[in-house]
This record gives sequence, structure tokens and C-alpha cells, in this order.
Amino acid sequence: MLDAKRGLVLRAPGPNGFVRDLDMARSSTPLHPAHADLESILVTEQAIKRRTRRLGTEIHETYGDEEITVIAIINGALLFTADLLRAISNPVRLDCIRISSYRNETRSLGRPQLLHSLTLDVTNRHVLLIDDILDTGKTLSMVVDLIHQLNPASIKTCVLLDKKGRREVPFDADFVGFEIPDKFVVGYGLDFAERYRNLPCIGVLKPHLQNPPEWA
Ligand code: 5GP
Ligand code: MG
Repeated sequence: MLDAKRGLVLRAPGPNGFVRDLDMARSSTPLHPAHADLESILVTEQAIKRRTRRLGTEIHETYGDEEITVIAIINGALLFTADLLRAISNPVRLDCIRISSYRNETRSLGRPQLLHSLTLDVTNRHVLLIDDILDTGKTLSMVVDLIHQLNPASIKTCVLLDKKGRREVPFDADFVGFEIPDKFVVGYGLDFAERYRNLPCIGVLKPHLQNPPEWA
């Protein structure tokens, strides 16, 4: 992952679905204090910004000038959705859905729970579901099934991160920010026990911080 000469290198889907290396310069802004808890940074703040702008363009190209009903899966997708919405030039309606699947653990616990449902009517609407990360696929496939029952005009999905190797349910997102390896990541909306969501980058926590007894 770390290339000494070129800085941080990771794999992300290119414009035609190819995987390419991203060569990222380090941030010139001061480090967030929570960086000290990270073992490594997988996606820098600049890479997120650049990819989010590109995703906004891809989404606009896909939908033309149609209105989109964006459904963010909170809390994880909060930060990504906020930035992505500003990169989408279509008319947009926003709703949120709350799902719980991880609690304070670093592995998925069985079935995702629906904690708060939609408030907007999505019948005959173009729905774009946004989540922070696609892991086993259980959360998004459950939410897609739920929304299908409401007869939308279409459903597409967009995730910032994709851990392709971890799928337990077959699922491909329509728009993917970055493919990442099978590591538990935090930052930019992703938490561990509700901490680290405010980190501007995506990183891997130091192992001794992943299960501190006082947070359980
Ligand atoms: P799935 O249902 O696909 O297994 O998991 C999706 C949800 O699990 C995501 O919305 C996210 O809340 C959580 N998740 C999966 N992998 C990670 C991870 O590496 N870090 C964090 N913080 N959450 C994750
Ligand atoms: Mg989530």
C-alpha cells in the first residue's frame, strides 16, 4: 500500500471500470489529532475530494437532467452524502434511512436492523441509495429490497468504499468511490463505537484501539 518514492498508493476504479493506481500527495493542512490513532491511511482527504467530484459528474451523466431522490444510510454516509450532493448538478430530494449492523464491533453482526425508515414518497421516483461502505452486501441488499416494494422508477446505489472480497450476498454498487482491502476502516463518516467519524481521511485503526474494553 505504501510506496516510499511516490507517497500513498491505492487502487480505485478508473473512468472505464479499470483499476488504476492513485498517486497522492500528502495533505498540506495540519493533521487531525485522531490521525495518531491510525496505523495507516488508505484514502487521503484530497483523494476523497477528487473522486467525489468525479462521481458527481458520473451520476449526472447517468441521470441526465432527471430529478434524483437521494437516500443516505446514516450515520455512516452522512459526510460522503453531504459532499457528493454538492457535486451533483441534478435536482435532488434528500431522505435518510437508519440501519444498524455493526454496533461496537469491527465485524458485522448477523442481520442489519432498520431503525428509522423513509419520510419521502419514492413511488415513481429515481432513487439513489448512498452508503459509506459495501462489505458483506447484507445492508444494501436489504435496503434495495425494501425500496423495491415502494415501486420507485429506478434504484441505483453509490458507495464511497467497496470491500469486494468480503461479500456474503452477491451485490454490486452502480457507483463506487474506491475499492479497499479487507481492513476495518474509520474516518469520513465511518466510526468505531461512534468515534472517528470526523477524520477527514479513511484509515485503519491501530490494533490495540479496535476493541478497547472501556468502549464496549
Ligand atoms: P454490510 O452490510 O455490507 O456488511 O456492511 C455495511 C455496513 O457495515 C456499512 O454501512 C458500515 O456501517 C459497516 N461497515 C462495514 N465495513 C466497515 C468498516 O471497515 N468500518 C466501519 N466503520 N464500518 C463498516
Ligand atoms: Mg453504515
